[in-house]
Amino acid sequence: MLDVCLLGTGGTVPLPERWLTSCYVRCEGTAALIDCGEGTQIALHKERISCKHIDLIFLTHFHADHTAGLPGLLLSMAKADRTDPIMIIGPKGIEDLLKGVMLIARYVPFEIYYRQIEGKEETFEFGSLSFTAFHVKHSVPCYGYEINVKRTRRFDPKKAEKNGIPKKFWGLLQKGQTVEHDGQTYEPEMVLGDERKGIKMVYSTDTRPCDSLREHAKDTDLLITEGMYGVADGLEKAVANKHMTMQEAAALAREANTKCLWLTHYSPIEHNVEEYAEELRAIFENTVLSKDGERADLAFAHEGVRDD
Ligand SMILES: [Zn+2]
Ligand SMILES: [Zn+2]
Repeated sequence: MLDVCLLGTGGTVPLPERWLTSCYVRCEGTAALIDCGEGTQIALHKERISCKHIDLIFLTHFHADHTAGLPGLLLSMAKADRTDPIMIIGPKGIEDLLKGVMLIARYVPFEIYYRQIEGKEETFEFGSLSFTAFHVKHSVPCYGYEINVKRTRRFDPKKAEKNGIPKKFWGLLQKGQTVEHDGQTYEPEMVLGDERKGIKMVYSTDTRPCDSLREHAKDTDLLITEGMYGVADGLEKAVANKHMTMQEAAALAREANTKCLWLTHYSPIEHNVEEYAEELRAIFENTVLSKDGERADLAFAHEGVRDD
């Protein structure tokens, strides 16, 4: 299961009813934020998510609406008596950004580690979760994130028997351990069934529609992208400011064969995004005009009963 919560859906500046961009994901004890706009610690509090147990923070880019919440969040973690280290991952320049953040959030009682994303694409593995940063097209270096939850392979007793594996080693091999016995080597591969489809989501803001996003968005269970503008002259504004319109996002979701699209990062000029619902759902039916606190528990696909 992958628990996803959009903490804020605003872009540029916060509004009284709309916090700035941040997305929370959690799976099997690993919790992460992507982006940390101003007021993220308040949005977490509102959603009853403890800031104390966030292990990782990924940043798409360093514009203030995605990063200005860091000092407040780190101080809230300190107030909650956090002692576990935290890892912050972002584009080139992350070290300088954190130096600035630490001028405000001095003396936090836990270690802050950072990783700089290298190149156009990089994957970070944490337990059963993997995060692939991919470069997108904004006015400054910016990355989208593909998040995958791996699914363990089933034990296949027929395969184990066919390969002549002694029953006493089945359990160890199923857990992924290699067994050496009487000059024989038994590998997990000898007892495991086919690879199984995991959970795939993508979070990407801010960007123009681009090939890397189209590629990573393919066959996602959930695609979260910006829908900065819906208004008639939105495309003009989006091209000028290197953003994406709601209509472009819906077309990209349709093309990518995603199951569901959540829009976020609305311009402050867009007060009532629901007015675009009909138009957007005509482009891509499963378009959700997300609100702060939009939440889903993504589960593995049901595989049915095997008949082999
Ligand atoms: Zn932004
Ligand atoms: Zn930006």
